Amino acid sequence: MTNIDEKLQPILAEVIRRNAGEPEFHQAVLEVMESLGHVVAKHPDFLELALIERICEPERQIIFRIPWVDDSGQVQINRGFRVQFNSALGPYKGGLRFHPSVNLGIVKFLGFEQVFKNALTGLPIGGGKGGSDFDPKGKSDGEIMRFCQSMMTELHRHLGEQTDVPAGDIGVGGREIGYMFGQYKRLNNRYEAGVLTGKAIAYGGSRARTEATGFGNTYFTKAMLETRDTDFDGKRVVVSGSGNVAIHTIEKVQSFGGKVIACSDSSGYVVDEAGIDLELLQEIKTRRRERISEYARRRGSDVDFVKADSGSVWDVPCDVAMPSATQNELSGKNARTLVKNGVIAVGEGANMPCTPEAIRVLREAGVLFGPGKAANAGGVATSALEMQQNASRDRWTFEQTETRLAQIMKSIHDRCAETADEYGAPGDYVLGANIAGFVRVAESMRMLGVI
Ligand code: GLU
Repeated sequence: MTNIDEKLQPILAEVIRRNAGEPEFHQAVLEVMESLGHVVAKHPDFLELALIERICEPERQIIFRIPWVDDSGQVQINRGFRVQFNSALGPYKGGLRFHPSVNLGIVKFLGFEQVFKNALTGLPIGGGKGGSDFDPKGKSDGEIMRFCQSMMTELHRHLGEQTDVPAGDIGVGGREIGYMFGQYKRLNNRYEAGVLTGKAIAYGGSRARTEATGFGNTYFTKAMLETRDTDFDGKRVVVSGSGNVAIHTIEKVQSFGGKVIACSDSSGYVVDEAGIDLELLQEIKTRRRERISEYARRRGSDVDFVKADSGSVWDVPCDVAMPSATQNELSGKNARTLVKNGVIAVGEGANMPCTPEAIRVLREAGVLFGPGKAANAGGVATSALEMQQNASRDRWTFEQTETRLAQIMKSIHDRCAETADEYGAPGDYVLGANIAGFVRVAESMRMLGVI
């Protein structure tokens, strides 16, 4: 707790005591608290009104049983979660994650990050998160549908376009959103397009929503590079993961002239010095849902596949690293390797992919570091644009939507940079993002009274 202002230490101790056994949630809270010392010095009423304690306590936490029947006729049980964290700025907004690692602590860390991320977008959205420990790997389409329907059979009563608006996250893409939207519509007997985002374009989705998180991180990282009078052109870039975020990061980096030479999945990573073949990667990962080793097999002897237990994608020398897989995927050791290899910027496409030690190593080495709650906010920002289109029964072109996304990312970047300057830490995007996000939420909560 050494980096925490002493007035905040008892608050953190209480969060840890009250949320025992939730290390990822503690990590997310600790990281924000490290930035708040100067804020409470400037706004003593935030302490008097217990605003930090209130922000750390979710408004509502829902845990429920999800029974479903698999293809062999066997009844399966999973656990569902929705944590409605903070609605000071708008309806709860945040994705659903389907992954065996999902538990309450994971959902709370994601929900907590989401509150500040959504505040940074400047749009009227509160923060929430949910999901299940369901493992979509190897499940048939019918099993996925029955699971999604069962999940929504409970979840629907807690949602609404003015109340709580989920979207996708790991394991939840367009297919799952479609099945959940269908079940919501059936149970409520109303076409409430804005209750979920990440929908297909055919029934109320927004253009550029699928691309938005990866594109947004690329815009954010480009803005960081510009502060050092450079850009992506000719840079060697490593993007971890190979899901939706990673794929559209690769696409945008390539369009800016960067060369993405490696990407990964949980089984290992591939190094393609000719530059990742995006078409092939999408064919394997998005359409066929195969392992990344298949990419190396199809590309032949020019491409190396390294198994996850024999090395890390962060061992590949690069100028820019864009972790886009999952939490705590980039350790202190990985960060030291990146620094040794001359990395100049790291933009977090995933939520909390760098460990606290990794962040410390990168910041001490003067590496440009874009924290996820700022750098990956493009996904949820475009979800808010999807809600706008649904509310006005309108649809925008891809160009219109991407232009808005690019403006939002630039303004998030500038807001973080200006806040860091104002608090005497130029170039510190972690401090800038935490303070700018926190102050917007805390000031709104103060105006709304003790609720
Ligand atoms: N799951 C995404 C995130 O972490 C998107 C959430 C949303 O669009 O609501 O921000």
